[in-house]
Amino acid sequence: MIQTKGYAAQDEKTNLAPWSFERREVGPHDVQFDIRFCGVCHSDVHQIHNDWSPGIFPMVPGHEIVGTIVKVGAHVKKFKVGDLAGTGCLVDSCRTCDNCKEGLEQYCLNGSTGTYNSLGQDHKTPTYGGYSNTIVVHEDFVLRISDTLDLAASAPLLCAGITTYSPLRHWKVGKGHKLAVLGLGGLGHMAVKFGVAFGAEVTVLSTSPEKEADAKKLGAHKFVVTSDAEQLKSVTGYFDFILDTVSAQHDVNMYLSLLRTNGTHICVGVPPSAYQIHAFSLIGGRKSLVGSLIGGLPETQEMLDFCAAHNITSDIELIDIKNIHASYDRMIKGDVRYRFVIDMATL
Ligand code: NAP
Ligand code: ZN
Ligand code: ZN
Repeated sequence: MIQTKGYAAQDEKTNLAPWSFERREVGPHDVQFDIRFCGVCHSDVHQIHNDWSPGIFPMVPGHEIVGTIVKVGAHVKKFKVGDLAGTGCLVDSCRTCDNCKEGLEQYCLNGSTGTYNSLGQDHKTPTYGGYSNTIVVHEDFVLRISDTLDLAASAPLLCAGITTYSPLRHWKVGKGHKLAVLGLGGLGHMAVKFGVAFGAEVTVLSTSPEKEADAKKLGAHKFVVTSDAEQLKSVTGYFDFILDTVSAQHDVNMYLSLLRTNGTHICVGVPPSAYQIHAFSLIGGRKSLVGSLIGGLPETQEMLDFCAAHNITSDIELIDIKNIHASYDRMIKGDVRYRFVIDMATL
């Protein structure tokens, strides 16, 4: 077994603290890479607090993982020692169901294996994430990372990147569309970059007036403060798509009124409690309320290659792992500019 150092929460009430654990030996199809940077996703906060469901503890969060390969199994063809590598939210799936065969492993009909707070395909072995010094992953769930982009700023592409790229591609958002990005955090700022790259007119809908200058620098064409009734009125019935990245409770009915006829509200944010939707918010204007979960492995590689070709990375604040809870507190307050990334050298 491989002795591994990490940061774990022992239960939902205790803070993350140093913790040692074991990872499996490198099998014939496995890749081991030493983790250099790991992004901090709001899903890490939700999961260590049991916001969605009881978690598997001890929990080592982290699913925006990049580093350098130190060992490959005898049958690994795609990677070699010294290459950069990345892993996102998935480390395994059944690989045999219709969705897996289509490269939609996130929708595995038999249940995919998450990078942490999850069980392996044996339904027994817990997984531990990227707030740690090294990881062993089957080569099919390892991604190629470009050495032309800043490595630390590439880490958030593995979740914030693919989670916003995938729905924009699926619903073919682009030229001629008016896209609203609801919430300018980790996911939201990537959605702005992709929306602009795909040719849409992008508006940020935010609770934080002080983020306007940043939104414009990211390429957004408009910025609307959602607590300002006059500003909201100016975009009522205006958008073709709203990409909703909000992590906390909010009134979706109010945002549905900003869609034009046949408009689509795409949920990617996952607040702890259920949305309350009135049927009238949808039927008057034939509106769609849809959702999307991260992205499959082929599309994640496509997104990483797109980012390398278009020089797209995340805007990050590099942190010492000892400051993880201060970062969580800032994230919960909406004060993230625009992704915290842990420098794993501080572990
Ligand atoms: P984040 O960086 O904390 O950003 C969330 C943003 O939402 C905040 O910066 C804030 O933006 C806005 N917001 C926060 N509280 C709000 C409220 N009460 N009302 C309205 N807006 C509010 O979080 P993230 O990492 O981007 O993740 C966002 C959500 O997506 C989380 O729930 C996460 O679990 C989920 N997620 C889903 C997937 C998926 O596959 N679907 C993948 C990853 C993450 P403003 O300051 O601009 O208002
Ligand atoms: Zn995430
Ligand atoms: Zn499957």
